[in-house]
Amino acid sequence: MPQNYFKLIKDAFPEPVFRLIIQAGELAHGMSYGLYLVGGVVRDLLLDRKSDDIDIMVEGDAIKLADLLAQLPNTRITSYRKFGTSTLKVDDFRIDLATCRRETYSRPGALPSVKSGDITEDLFRRDFTINAMSLCINPGKFGELIDIYNGKQDLEKKLIRVLHSESFTDDATRIMRAIRYEQRLNFKLETKTEKLIARDLDMLDSISGDRLRKEISLWFSELQPEKILHRADELAVLQKLQTGLHWNDHFNETFSRVRKQAKPASAVQLYYCLLVYSLNESELDELLGRLNIHGGKLDNLCRLTLKLKNKLALLDEKEIKRADIYYLLKDFSPPAIRANALCTGSHRIRTYLELYLDNLRFTKTLLNGRDMARMGVPEGRLVGIVLQDVLKAKLNGEVKTKMDEERLARSIIRKLSDPGMHQ
Ligand code: ATP
Repeated sequence: MPQNYFKLIKDAFPEPVFRLIIQAGELAHGMSYGLYLVGGVVRDLLLDRKSDDIDIMVEGDAIKLADLLAQLPNTRITSYRKFGTSTLKVDDFRIDLATCRRETYSRPGALPSVKSGDITEDLFRRDFTINAMSLCINPGKFGELIDIYNGKQDLEKKLIRVLHSESFTDDATRIMRAIRYEQRLNFKLETKTEKLIARDLDMLDSISGDRLRKEISLWFSELQPEKILHRADELAVLQKLQTGLHWNDHFNETFSRVRKQAKPASAVQLYYCLLVYSLNESELDELLGRLNIHGGKLDNLCRLTLKLKNKLALLDEKEIKRADIYYLLKDFSPPAIRANALCTGSHRIRTYLELYLDNLRFTKTLLNGRDMARMGVPEGRLVGIVLQDVLKAKLNGEVKTKMDEERLARSIIRKLSDPGMHQ
């Protein structure tokens, strides 16, 4: 593992970012503030992994320092005075500045009460040894590693280890974070940490739905969330979220298909659908309630996914017409259909679902309301009825050109206006 941390920092970032780090260190020094790179960025530097987010902790007033940094050319800074934090953007990098703090927990799962502190106290509040290292960036001490909890050794041994035995009691979201880092980095939970997870699993009950949902979304933002779900099942973390949630052997294949088919933002939604697919409706209700998902896109999507799952048998017909497929699916959102296409075990049903997604749902008649008026159909319900019948015929391949559609429309209009029809 590299020892020359100055060079490590210099080589890891583009020149403007490195320059800003140096300038921030100099300004902080002038204010007698200690300044440190902390957490994930140090971990990733030592692992030679790329990280786009840089956390800098200030032994002093972070906002005052940010105000000075804002005067440098080409720096965009947003300060959140209420929270005492500032965010800088340089190139694609996001640099967060905050004041070092000391945290105490009044009860398990509560958000901590916070006081300003020094870097040692700040490192003590962190989740795992590998995330509890800092690199000083003040002149004279630039590149000095502070590693009170032997995080560097754990990086070498590839271990996820908590700093103390009450860590999960203080904040059980760390259980979910531990699994995420373990799987992302291909590490192992250190033996005692794994035992503490088993001991403190019930502490997850003390975590709010919003915080749990945020951690699940972080799982789903990883490169291979299915590995995390597998491990979460093994450690009974999934069942703690909802007793019906389980690892499914098909996840390996379905999750990787999602990555191929969907953009990252829609992938997260699809992952949720795949996760809930095996639940029944009351289990889904319970899970959505637990995660404080009420109304909104994700709620709707998960519910539609299960609703469609319960209707799939209607598609299991060899001779089904394309228009029937269309009308069965048209009120379901495409991601709910996609989720079902990924999860169904029936080749025939999958083919029909994909036919709808790739083709049928885009089908439109060439005739429109203006054509109807031209053909003498008065504005109103009749226009919709005629166009819908034309669409059905088009879906079934019975009409192709605009002339075909017009001929069919005229015959429908004739039939509808034939008084004999209404007897
Ligand atoms: P990545 O962004 O790569 O997942 P990160 O380490 O930057 O990793 P963040 O969630 O941005 O992760 O958190 C920044 C740092 O804050 C972490 O490295 C860790 O030291 C600390 N941290 C975050 N969440 C917690 C928590 N729940 N308990 C204790 N420390 C935490």
